[in-house]
Amino acid sequence: MSETLEEVRPPAPKVARPLDSESSSIASAPGVGRKRIVIVGGGFGGVAAVRALKHCDADVVLIDRRNHHIFQPLLYQVATAVLAPSEIAAPIRQLAEKQKNVSVMLGEVIGLDMSSRSVEASCPGVGIRKVQFDYLVIAAGMQPSYFGHDEFANYAPGLKSLSDAETIRTKILSAYELADTTDDESERARQMTFVLVGAGPTGVAVPAD
Ligand SMILES: Cc1cc2nc3c(=O)[nH]c(=O)nc-3n(C[C@H](O)[C@H](O)[C@H](O)COP(=O)(O)OP(=O)(O)OC[C@H]3O[C@@H](n4cnc5c(N)ncnc54)[C@H](O)[C@@H]3O)c2cc1C
Repeated sequence: MSETLEEVRPPAPKVARPLDSESSSIASAPGVGRKRIVIVGGGFGGVAAVRALKHCDADVVLIDRRNHHIFQPLLYQVATAVLAPSEIAAPIRQLAEKQKNVSVMLGEVIGLDMSSRSVEASCPGVGIRKVQFDYLVIAAGMQPSYFGHDEFANYAPGLKSLSDAETIRTKILSAYELADTTDDESERARQMTFVLVGAGPTGVAVPAD
C-alpha cells in the first residue's frame, strides 16, 4: 500500500476558520480577534501539542504533508510483515472530530516568514497557501542520517514512513521466496542472510520478531 490520500480515509474536512491564500485574504490578521496557533507536523510532538491546547481559547491549525499520523515505534513490525500498514496509521483529521478548536490542513510547509507571521504551505491540488499565525509550533520530526554515507540508502532504506516499511518488507519477503525457489545452496544462504547495522531499539527489535 502506498502513502496516498486513499490509504487512510479521513472524515469530512472541518475548517474552524478560513485560512489565508494568495488569491484570497479571508482570515483576520494575527493578533486581531481570536488567536491562531499553527502547528507544523502531526507526529507525536504535533499531536501532543494539539491535545495540550484543547482548552485554549484559540484556533489551532495543524498542517501536515501526510493525511495520517504514523505510530513509528511499530514501523518495524510492518517492515517484517507482522502488521499491516493500516494498523499503525490513523487519519490526522480525527483530531478535528474530537477537538472543536482544531482544523487540519493537508500541505507541505515550504516557507516561513516571521515578518508577516505566516507559513507557506504547498497543498496538493490547491497550490500555495499562506497561513498566518499568532503562535507557531514546529514539530516536523527529523530525517534519517547515514552519517555522511548517503549512498547506503540504496541498499538500506530508512524506516520513517509506511513506504519505507513496505520497501523493506518487499526486500525481506522476496529474499525468502528466492531462497525457497533456488536449487543453489550458496545462493539460498545468501538470500537468508540479513545484516543489521545498529543495535539501538529498532535494530534490536527487528530480529526479535
Ligand atoms: C522505527 C522507529 C522506531 C521507534 N521506536 C520508538 C520507541 O520504541 N519508543 C519511543 O519512545 N520512540 C520511538 N521512536 C521515535 C519516535 O517515533 C520519535 O521520537 C517520534 O515519532 C518523534 O516525533 P515528532 O513529532 O518529533 O516527529 P514525527 O513523528 O516524525 O512527525 C513529524 C510530522 O511532521 C510532518 N512533516 C515533516 N515535515 C513537514 C513539512 N515540511 N510540512 C508539513 N508536515 C511536515 C511529517 O509528515 C510527520 O507527520 C521510533 C522511531 C522509529 C523511526
